[in-house]
Amino acid sequence: MTAGTERKPLTGAFRADGAAPTLGEYRKAGGYEGLRRALKEMKPGEVTKEVLASGLRGRGGAGFPTGKKWSFMPMGEKARHPKYYTCNADEMEPGSFKDRVLMEGNPHLLIEGMAIASYALEASTAVIFLRWAYHAARKRLERAIAEAYDGNFLGENIMGTDFSLRLHVHSSAGRYMCGEEATMMTALEGRRPFPRAKPPHLSVCGLWGKSTVNNNVETICNVPHIVKNGAAWYKGLSRTKEGGTKLYTMAGRVQRPGAWELPMGTTMRELLEEHAGGMREGYRFRAAIPGGASTEFVLKGHLDTKMDFDSMPESGSRLGTGTVVVLDDRTCPIGTTWSLMDFFSRESCGWCTPCREGLPWIARILEAIERGEGEPGDMDILREHCRDLGSGRTFCFLAPGAMEPLRSALRYFEDDFMRHIREKRCTYGRAGL
Ligand code: SF4
Repeated sequence: MTAGTERKPLTGAFRADGAAPTLGEYRKAGGYEGLRRALKEMKPGEVTKEVLASGLRGRGGAGFPTGKKWSFMPMGEKARHPKYYTCNADEMEPGSFKDRVLMEGNPHLLIEGMAIASYALEASTAVIFLRWAYHAARKRLERAIAEAYDGNFLGENIMGTDFSLRLHVHSSAGRYMCGEEATMMTALEGRRPFPRAKPPHLSVCGLWGKSTVNNNVETICNVPHIVKNGAAWYKGLSRTKEGGTKLYTMAGRVQRPGAWELPMGTTMRELLEEHAGGMREGYRFRAAIPGGASTEFVLKGHLDTKMDFDSMPESGSRLGTGTVVVLDDRTCPIGTTWSLMDFFSRESCGWCTPCREGLPWIARILEAIERGEGEPGDMDILREHCRDLGSGRTFCFLAPGAMEPLRSALRYFEDDFMRHIREKRCTYGRAGL
């Protein structure tokens, strides 16, 4: 472990010039030691136990315990082979870029994490499902993968053991739906990406009908450090009982938008005031979406809530991806909500009626209100949609997720909605984020 990675395992080995570390540089910083330890000193089940003990939870947004997810994989001689391990690097949510930062900043960390996870799950093929627009990440990953094959960290009989792994990068066609893991499997199989009914779960019937486990980029990048340094060390990085660090990002009219690796449980106030340098001159904090476009707005009174999976619900929202987008007092909240709903309505796959018809309807109503053409009854229609597209009403979580920012906007910004409708105009100079 180097001084850089001791407190910041995800970003501590980033190069100052922004280039990705070469294999030699990565190894000098302790890279591939976690893989060596796993292959030479641990059985696959022991690796899963260590990850479970670390408290690592999925960083793609859902927060499911990673070790528990791995434990669902059928193991041993009786399990059907081949098995697959996939990495979701699609990252299509507006404002989200943390996984790109990791892939561009240290691609070997992701490769090592995938090799360790594949060993733990007895998978012989691994695939990175990459957002089509991430050209720089793709180039860096491909170079690092070639280096890893040359160094025998991928390929046949890795490090002289009987474990072999093929790793592929697949650039996706780019739909938000593919962020849902079963949909991602369908896309990888070359079919139109509709979600699938579960059960059967992916660990039983995943890619091409074979046992598959999928994790997010940030989740996987934690694995080498957990295996190398142990679960207790990893838990010690956090301020809460959820292990490790988190790559938080903040965007909006703050002094220094960016991404920071901080202890899990850092508050939004610290993010805003210490790391993002506070609001830009002339702007005040009004609200924020804390965890990506499908999370509820939080207000100033929620700034001191710890940003982890268990604590964030106290604010009425979710940690999600930890991608904070700040809404200032000079930006129209109706315009902001409209742009979010417009995104979701474009990304609906059209499978179920409430989502296919409801989301464009919501977007049209919000557009009308924003343009000063709203009617008093629009508020009731929007509230009805929040119920009709809510949890359990549609086939997948896209529509219920889209209702989270809308529901909270109707609650927190009701005065703004009514003023737009009453005065038949937008009272802000600039709409949207
Ligand atoms: S909720 Fe929307 S995105 Fe999900 S299956 Fe239904 S139509 Fe498709």
